[in-house]
Amino acid sequence: MRSEIRKCGSCGRYTLRNTCPLCGSTTSCPVPPKYSPEDRMGEYRRKAIMECYGDNGKHNKI
Ligand SMILES: [Zn+2]
Repeated sequence: MRSEIRKCGSCGRYTLRNTCPLCGSTTSCPVPPKYSPEDRMGEYRRKAIMECYGDNGKHNKI
């Protein structure tokens, strides 16, 4: 069993608990989940498409 370090988003304290022992805020893992290169490429591609077609993709239709 491995323990995961977590971090309070309010006061920045590191803890192993789900809630901060100091301020009681919900903690989260400070290390972001891994993203595969495909996901990052996909996100970049989606952003590029949004820039071209807008949020709804309803203008500049080809
Ligand atoms: Zn805190």
